[in-house]
Amino acid sequence: MTVTCSCCGQERPVEQVGELQCHPETRVCRDCISWLHHQAGMVETTPTFPVLDMAATIAFYESIGFDVHAYDDGFAFVQYEDVSVFDLDLRPDLDVSRNMAGCFLIVPDSDEWHARVVAAGVSAGPLEDMPWGMREFAFSDPNGNRVRVGTTIST
Ligand SMILES: [Zn+2]
Repeated sequence: MTVTCSCCGQERPVEQVGELQCHPETRVCRDCISWLHHQAGMVETTPTFPVLDMAATIAFYESIGFDVHAYDDGFAFVQYEDVSVFDLDLRPDLDVSRNMAGCFLIVPDSDEWHARVVAAGVSAGPLEDMPWGMREFAFSDPNGNRVRVGTTIST
């Protein structure tokens, strides 16, 4: 099912269109939300993870539903549904046991993400409701990078 974006007029998948909070008849697609995001002066971030084995790491993230675009042999961009999530940077000197890098992905449905990650055979922690208002879980990639995934819940 598609919806017409009120801003650009393009037909977009319904799950990639948001309604304005106070004017729900106005529906805006991801491209136009991104444009608005910049218009409103908001910062976007893309963490960079150190990687010891680029090929294995790309395969790992692809296995759990990310798209990975290699820039060259030493750097790659990781996206989810065309949105930048983090980058991978080859670091042959990385000590995986001492790697403390990580990031937190805030997603619409952490239950769906948990099921997908577990189904791919990744050893993920339990999905839990946390006192800080997130329903979240975590897993580590082959380089020891810690990815937490959560959805905002009412507390
Ligand atoms: Zn649009």
